[in-house]
Order: sequence, then structure tokens, then C-alpha cells
Amino acid sequence: MNGLMLDGNAVAGLLQEIFAVEMTTAVGTCDGCGASEAVGAVHVYRGAGIVLRCPHCDNALVKIVTDDARVWIDFRGVRTLELDV
Ligand SMILES: [Zn+2]
Repeated sequence: MNGLMLDGNAVAGLLQEIFAVEMTTAVGTCDGCGASEAVGAVHVYRGAGIVLRCPHCDNALVKIVTDDARVWIDFRGVRTLELDV
């Protein structure tokens, strides 16, 4: 990790607000390399939006942009997401 990158725990509050379940223990499968990893272990980059990247191949898993009233989520880098319900 470097000064610009955080781990998935950095977006735990935002993800829990959106999905209404604990997300850091959810397991996602990367559509780029097929690796499965807990959301808490992904790499998080913040800029104009938030980008979650695969810690194995750097594929952009999820892109999130918010304003005061809405959130846009692009999940095209995630093959599957496994949640505890
Ligand atoms: Zn990957």
C-alpha cells in the first residue's frame, strides 16, 4: 500500500449504507483473474470517486461515485459477490 491507496475497510461504512449488510466480510470474485477475496482485502483508491481494485491483478472491481442524494455503482469488474444474509 502507498499514500494514495487504502484497504477495503476504508469504504466499509459507505458499502454498509448501500447494501444494509456487513460488506467487509463479503467475498468477491474478480472478473479479471478469477481470484476470490474479502472486500476488506481489496485495494481502495479515492479521487473524484472511489475505485476498488483486485489485490492480485489490479483489475478495477467496483467504481463508486456519490453526490449528496445519489450513488452510482459500476460492478462490471466483479464476477460474483457472496454475502451473508
Ligand atoms: Zn484480479
